[in-house]
Amino acid sequence: MDQVLLPHLSSGKVRDIYDAGDDRLLMVASDRLSAFDVVMAEPIPDKGRVLTAMSAFWFDHLADVVPGHLISTEVEDLPDGARDPGLAGRIMLCRRAEMLPVECIVRGHLAGSAWREYRRDGTMHGTPLPEGLRESDRLPEPLFTPSTKAEVGDHDENVSFDRAVDLLGRELAEQVRDVSLALYRRGAEWAAERGIIIADTKFELGLVEGELVLADEVLTPDSSRFWPADAWEPGTTPPSFDKQPVRDLLDSLDWDKTPPPPALPDDVVAATSARYREAYERLTGLDLDDWPGSSS
Ligand code: ATP
Ligand code: MG
Repeated sequence: MDQVLLPHLSSGKVRDIYDAGDDRLLMVASDRLSAFDVVMAEPIPDKGRVLTAMSAFWFDHLADVVPGHLISTEVEDLPDGARDPGLAGRIMLCRRAEMLPVECIVRGHLAGSAWREYRRDGTMHGTPLPEGLRESDRLPEPLFTPSTKAEVGDHDENVSFDRAVDLLGRELAEQVRDVSLALYRRGAEWAAERGIIIADTKFELGLVEGELVLADEVLTPDSSRFWPADAWEPGTTPPSFDKQPVRDLLDSLDWDKTPPPPALPDDVVAATSARYREAYERLTGLDLDDWPGSSS
């Protein structure tokens, strides 16, 4: 964790959250990488900058669908005493929101836990799907498939839309579904034009003064499945745009997916770093070198 001179609130696998006062949060994205929910020992250079720069791009690009929580990514805007230059490029100063108790997953392709459920039961989050779909197939249309956040260490639970209605009330649940689908469509269309399939993603929405806002990180490789469009082949598991070098290594080892993780060799770290950078540059058309901070 970084030395940030603000009250520390929590740390996830990748990010550390601080109280920036005035109903604001500071989210610091580290270079930590998790695979199979285990954090690797080696940092991935530039990963925190990529996640931050990419989220900032999307908050801007998607603002007319729903406003975002992002206030600033500039170290200068931090409170007195917290302006550590080492944080440049990796911070989001955000409005604190009352987070909704559902995670807003949207799926455009059949992958991961949704594929496993479909193969077993023919359903996705309890809702029947057409027969004969293959792994990674594009769904007839993107679907809103919420989940509820599990306790630490547990996996999130996929739930039906009716369960989301129980948790949020019908009106808010429908608004959240419509906003999530609109966000996904906009993002996935943009990415597809640049050779990246966003197979599925998780949005987190909250309320600020009663208004819906887009919070957390947005359409990053950490919150989404990014696939290179030219490697997508229905009936197979497509390579992950960002984590494939790590996946390939881990698949070649006899590791039981519990800590401690195996060491990542330098070439795997470098290849993964390059993938994150490429995802950012392809999606945004921008150069990561123009984003604040420098490679760690
Ligand atoms: P994981 O590493 O598995 O993602 P995690 O979700 O606990 O674990 P983070 O993603 O780093 O770790 O945590 C970010 C937390 O901050 C989440 O609980 C998220 O819901 C919350 N959050 C994001 N944006 C806001 C916001 N604007 N206001 C309040 N809470 C927020
Ligand atoms: Mg999280």
